[in-house]
Formats: sequence, C-alpha cells, structure tokens
Amino acid sequence: MTALHPDLEPVLDEVLRRNPGENEFHQAVREVLESLSPVVDRRPEYAQASIIERICEPERQIIFRVPWVDDDGGVRIQRGFRVEFNSALGPFKGGLRFHPSVYLGIVKFLGFEQIFKNSLTGLPIGGGKGGSDFDPKGRSDGEIMRFCQSFMTELYRHIGEYTDVPAGDIGVGGREIGYLFGQYKRITNRYEAGVLTGKGLTWGGSQARTEATGYGTVFFTEEMLRAKGESLDGKRVVVSGAGNVAIYAIGKVHQLGGRVIACSDSSGYLLDEAGIDLDLLKDVKEVRRGRVADYAAERDGATVISDGSVWDVPCQIALPCATENEMDEEGAAALIKGGVEIVAEGANMPCTPGAIRALREAGVGFGPGKAANAGGVATSALEMQQNASRDSWTFEYTEERLHEVMKGLHDNCLTTADEFGSPGDYVAGANIGGFIKVADAMLAMGVI
Ligand code: NDP
Repeated sequence: MTALHPDLEPVLDEVLRRNPGENEFHQAVREVLESLSPVVDRRPEYAQASIIERICEPERQIIFRVPWVDDDGGVRIQRGFRVEFNSALGPFKGGLRFHPSVYLGIVKFLGFEQIFKNSLTGLPIGGGKGGSDFDPKGRSDGEIMRFCQSFMTELYRHIGEYTDVPAGDIGVGGREIGYLFGQYKRITNRYEAGVLTGKGLTWGGSQARTEATGYGTVFFTEEMLRAKGESLDGKRVVVSGAGNVAIYAIGKVHQLGGRVIACSDSSGYLLDEAGIDLDLLKDVKEVRRGRVADYAAERDGATVISDGSVWDVPCQIALPCATENEMDEEGAAALIKGGVEIVAEGANMPCTPGAIRALREAGVGFGPGKAANAGGVATSALEMQQNASRDSWTFEYTEERLHEVMKGLHDNCLTTADEFGSPGDYVAGANIGGFIKVADAMLAMGVI
C-alpha cells in the first residue's frame, strides 16, 4: 500500500469507522486518497472547508424493499439501493446493477468512482449508483418485468431529469431499462425521456450508447498506445467478460486492426486463436442469453477453459471488462509473463491494488476504469442532451463526439499527472483531475 498524506489518514480512518464492512468502498476511497497528497499540499483551502470528508459522505442513500411475484406465484423479496453521492457538477448520474452480490458497499464504491469519472468527461453530471441483489439469470421475461416494475414503484419518487438519472450496469441492459421507463411513465403520467439513459432508439435513446463503454475503452487504449508511438494494428488482445462492455470492446479492437483471442463469463474463458467471431458471440450472449460454451460448440477451433484464468492467455493488451477485483496479483503476474504492454479497465475497479502495483512495477501501461470506461456515461450525457433538445443525432456524429471526449480525457489525465509530479501516471492524473473540478464546485457552493 502507498502511504497516505498525514492529513488524509484521519479522513480514511473516519470512512472506515463510519462504513463498517463495506470493503469495496474502503478500497475505492483509499485509492483516490493515495493520489491526493500533492493536492493537499498545494490547495489548503480544500482541507479548511472539509471538502474531502464531504466528498466521502453520500448526499443521500436510499434502501428499499422490492417485493415481486415469480412465475410459480411465489412472493420474493429483494433489496433495492440508490446512492446519490455528489451533485456538485450536475444531477446524480450512474447505472443500476442487478446481481446477487449487490449490497450497500458495492453501490457506494461504484457511486464514489462515478463522481470522478463523470467529472473527467467534462460534461455536467454528478455521481450516483444503484441496484439490487436480484439475480436476473434464468428468470423469464415476465419475472424480469415484474421485478423492474416493483423496483421503479419505489425509485420513481427519487429520480428525475434534473435530479438523478439512472442507466444500466451489470444485469441491466436495454430490456430492463424499457420496463423501468414504462413503469416510471405510467406512475408519473409524464413522458420524461431524460429520466433514464440507455433507452431504445425509437423512444429517446441515443445512437452509440450501447457500444459506448466498450468503444470508449478501446479509444482510450488507442491513445495510450499513440502516446508510446504505437497503434492497435496487429496486437493480440484479451478481454474478460462477454457482456455489454466486453462485446463492444472486442468489436472496436477488430475495427482498429487488433485481434481479440479470448473473452470470458462466470462459467470460464473462451479461447479462439482465429479471433473472436463477434456476430456469433452477440447471438449467443445478446439474443440467446447463453454461455461461452455455446459459442465454442458452434465454432471450429474455439475452446472453453473452465478451471483457469483468462489472464493466463499471452497477449499485448488486456482489457478487464467483467467486474470488480477480477484481476489479482497472480493474474497480473501471468499477464506480465505473457508479455502484456497495456492494461486498460473497461470494468469498474477490476484490478486489485496488488495487481495494479505489480503491473506498474513491471512498466506496464495502466489505464484506470474511471478514465478508460468513462465513454458509457459520457454518451449517456449526450443522450440527455438529445432528450433536452428533442433531437437525435446520427451514429457517426455521436461516435465522433465520444471519440473526442475519450481523447480529451486521456490528454487531461496525462497533463494533470505531469502538473502534479507523476508523469505518465494515469491513476494520479484521473484521480486528481476528476477531484479538483468537483472540489472547486463544492467550494463555490458553500457548506451544503
Ligand atoms: P453485463 O452484465 O453486460 O456483463 C458482465 C459480464 O461480466 C458478463 O459476461 C458476466 O458473466 C461477467 N461477470 C460478471 N460478474 C462476474 C463475476 N463475478 N465473475 C466472472 N464474470 C463475471 O455488464 P456490463 O458489461 O455492463 O458491465 C461490466 C463492467 O463494466 C462492470 O464493472 C460495470 O460496472 C462496468 N461498466 C459498465 C458500463 C456500461 O455502460 N454498461 C459503464 C461503465 C462501466 P455472467 O453473465 O456469467 O455473469
């Protein structure tokens, strides 16, 4: 662990004391505080106004019961969450996650990261996150719909286009956003398109939103390579996950001349030396909602390994796009052995602190999620812009805007890292750059 600035030690101690058992949240806060030492020295006004203490405390946290009826008539109870973390730069903005592992600590880590990520996009959005411990796997469409309707029956009173604008995340894609939006519209009797992002294209959604996080991660990676005088052309790439972020990261790597030879889901990883066939993967995952083994069964030369790690596959670029803490020191060591040059996080906090340390010590370029995966939320903000002006842009125009945001964000990370004495350190650049904008807005608004 990196030592904290002495002024920040009591801040972290207080976060640990007030939020017991929330390990992922502790990890996310520590990582940001570790980067802030040079800021504490240069900007004493932040300490005087207790800005860091205030940023670590959500503005509002909502926890609610979500009852729903399964296909057998059984009544099920889930827990719903929305953490409205920081609205200094705009309405709370961040996705909803439906996964059995969801509890307050996960939602808070994601919401905390979201504050700085959203700030880095340069767009007017605050940070928040939500979700439920509901497991959508194996559930029928009817069950998913009833669950989403029950979830929104409580959530609707807390959200709005100027208040809090949720979107998707793990387990929440276009289908779920549709059911959530339908219930919001029904309860409020308002067609308020800007209340949710990730909507369908015929009812207020934005072109390129589905692709945005994966595409954005690859645009960021391309900029990291460009900074070293290289490109993606001909590179061997490994991606973890096979969901929304992973699928579109794979698509963009292929468009830019790289070859993705492995991806994964929670049942194992898929190796396809000829390069992942994206049409087949999308059919298996998006249409049939199947497993990576279904892909291997239909593709010559592809195999599934269910008792290993996707990081064992030698590659030059690794893009973790599944979930938090999916790459530990051992995974990083395997990648280093396999010749990895760049790791960019498509998922939120997929690399443990030990993995990040090992990668940096080995001289591997490391792009942290709050910068590298910011393309999704940036395009959500573009969806909000289109909703506000009752307009819809073309795919090409929206993708170009996304590309510009990712380039700007990359350059901003490097410039900030340089300015604060850590040249080339994307973690420091992202944390400091994201923090300062929020901190200055909070200072301007007084003690609220
Ligand atoms: P999806 O639900 O579409 O896909 C998640 C993928 O990761 C699935 O293939 C899933 O496999 C796998 N996965 C999830 N949990 C685990 C686990 N515990 N072990 C192994 N594999 C796992 O989610 P997204 O693609 O939307 O999100 C992926 C990551 O990207 C998350 O960290 C999310 O917070 C982050 N992110 C997403 C954004 C978005 O726009 N969607 C924006 C920014 C960040 P299986 O189906 O078997 O569970």
